[in-house]
Amino acid sequence: MEQSGRLVNDIIESAITAKATDIHLDPAREGLDIRYRIDGALHAVQHLSSAEQNAVITQLRQMADLPPTEPRSLQDGRLSISADGKEYDLRVSIMPMLFGEKVAMRIFDQAGVLLGLDKSGFTDEQLETVKRLLKTPSGMIISTGPAGSGKTTLLYSMITEIADPEKSLVTIEDPIEMALPGVQQAQVSPWTDFTFGTALRGYMRQDADVILVGEMRDTETAALSAHSAMTGHLILSQMLVEDAISVPQELVDLGVDPWIVGRNLPGVVACRLVKKVCQDCREEYTPSAESLEILGLRDKVGSVPFYHGAGCEQCGGTAHKGRQQLHEILVIDKNLSDMICGGETRSDVLLYTAVQHGFKPMIEDGKRAVLDGLVTAEEVCRVLSWR
Ligand SMILES: [Zn+2]
Repeated sequence: MEQSGRLVNDIIESAITAKATDIHLDPAREGLDIRYRIDGALHAVQHLSSAEQNAVITQLRQMADLPPTEPRSLQDGRLSISADGKEYDLRVSIMPMLFGEKVAMRIFDQAGVLLGLDKSGFTDEQLETVKRLLKTPSGMIISTGPAGSGKTTLLYSMITEIADPEKSLVTIEDPIEMALPGVQQAQVSPWTDFTFGTALRGYMRQDADVILVGEMRDTETAALSAHSAMTGHLILSQMLVEDAISVPQELVDLGVDPWIVGRNLPGVVACRLVKKVCQDCREEYTPSAESLEILGLRDKVGSVPFYHGAGCEQCGGTAHKGRQQLHEILVIDKNLSDMICGGETRSDVLLYTAVQHGFKPMIEDGKRAVLDGLVTAEEVCRVLSWR
């Protein structure tokens, strides 16, 4: 047992050192394959024998406070570990598979989110807009983007930004990714009676000022969030929507009245994560004609340097290191609000008006990152065409 405990710790500590976000333990015909997710992609790191496999699973169950036996069902647990002098929380999910139990662990970096809004990759202008939006006393502020685009981290940075002892700040999450100072957090579960809906109803009686709603994906959550916004609460939430301009229509599709959307949606922040060029091996190159065409940067070739990574020891030969968040911020001004209230929620029509009034679509942020030498033109194109 002692030795397997060491083995589990080694697996987790190496993942943290490698800056992995997830650890996968996949049962094979014989033994266990270990992979780490780093900068969005899985990398094979180790293979354990069948004997080690059993010891590791037993120890993990113990550390995550799960029953030691193997009930043939899905199980969720949490564990904490200290590494590099910091505390890390891990969510552990175990599922029975053909060759044994498959484990996936998500590593929550307790220090990461405290970086805050000013470290989220916003330009000065964007940062000012987001801070202005967060001063709105009531309404819904939505972060949006595909899975793994950093929406939750952005919401955490937002609520941390407005944390104030004179206000009651609360969350409803599934799961809670990390403990936030000055914020009361509730974990809901689709498997029990304590759902997003129950928690929202509860908070309306609990005198909350700011409510972070982990995910707005069903009609009940949308209706209750809109109701809370109308009755003086600030709602911070996220949706799985491609771009900011499509959010009004999505809310209407979830059953919220256009008039309520138009009057209670101060703004939307869409985000994407892109891989950054490794700054240790970056060199000038000419991006593909296609990516230059898409980004409208063809006329910059020759006058502005473009960079990519050559691959070095620092980045493990991958040519990229770390990630950067791209954004677009849609402020629902009087013009857009009136249009939406009048029932106009088609994204192309709203986009036309928004751009006329200064809205910068995400592609503009991508171009800026390319011209700053932080990201390749190809990477921006890859991430923007996610559908
Ligand atoms: Zn490199």
